[in-house]
Amino acid sequence: MRIASTVLDLIGHTPLVRLNHVTAGLAAQVVAKVEYVNPGGSVKDRIAVRIIDAAEASGDLRPGGTIVEPTSGNTGVGLALVAQQRGYRCIFVVPDKVGEDKRAVLRAYGAEVVVTPTAVAPDDPRSYYSVSDRIVRETPGAFKPNQYANPNGPASHYASTGPEIWEATDGRLTHFVTGVGTGGTISGTGRYLKDASKGAVRVIGADPEGSVYSGGTGRPYLVEGVGEDFWPGAYDPTVVDEVEAVSDAESFAMTLRLAREEGLLVGGSSGMAVVAALRVAERLGPDDLVVVLLPDGGRGYLGKIFNDDWMASYGFGPVVQGVTVADLLA
Ligand code: PMP
Repeated sequence: MRIASTVLDLIGHTPLVRLNHVTAGLAAQVVAKVEYVNPGGSVKDRIAVRIIDAAEASGDLRPGGTIVEPTSGNTGVGLALVAQQRGYRCIFVVPDKVGEDKRAVLRAYGAEVVVTPTAVAPDDPRSYYSVSDRIVRETPGAFKPNQYANPNGPASHYASTGPEIWEATDGRLTHFVTGVGTGGTISGTGRYLKDASKGAVRVIGADPEGSVYSGGTGRPYLVEGVGEDFWPGAYDPTVVDEVEAVSDAESFAMTLRLAREEGLLVGGSSGMAVVAALRVAERLGPDDLVVVLLPDGGRGYLGKIFNDDWMASYGFGPVVQGVTVADLLA
């Protein structure tokens, strides 16, 4: 019988699937690692287990403790899963640009959600970083995973995401592309793939236009879960060969195309990563194999990217099927 002992045992071992349509005209193969099949629905389940295991082992988190974290939602879901299984209370602090549907998911697992304004500086007392620090100070037994600096984030990707990609491609991948938020995915996965390939695999970050990783000032953008207005400790710039800046319009257009042309209902950061992957693939030949990681599913964005009125309110017109790669990459 193949029966997992608990839901936590279902995390990881996600599949790779070839992108067959949005890649029209390209010589290189582009394949996607589909992280929405994790039980919490995103790549962040991976870091949640490892961070909580480590906190229990170190004594930073004890029975009856409370997990407090600023998160755009996906890390919260992963932590909420682990907390539910192990009996911890959870309080999540989210910026107001995160959709109500994502907040409702956190509450569904029994977590508490505190909403804070997006358009304030990180050191502002109302920022989601400041508010979460205050809750930690005021809550006895509080543990803050601090995904932005916790080395167990990148370590979880070094231990799982990297080896999974290496094994699934028989070590034949040549390029790895992923969005950068905390930087945990790119740093841990990228480091493993560089180690395994003796430096041959090129690691490319995808970043929203405006974010610091691609040289921006930290100005706002709409894609969720990626980009930063500061440099987190979880990001290791020595692993990253280049960073592609992608606009909201390009990211959302590709997100819609992935659903309509590849049957992959994914979030905006997945569309962003695929735009970057296709730009990379345009320069490559038939012997190249690009792996792009799709961090989460699209159901958390039905009222946004997949809603024509919301898109129109930001000036994004309807995206018609058959928009060419060249149109998007122009
Ligand atoms: N996409 C989404 C939707 C996310 O929630 C995250 C995590 N913040 C990322 C991409 C980026 O992952 P990382 O934090 O590992 O850089």
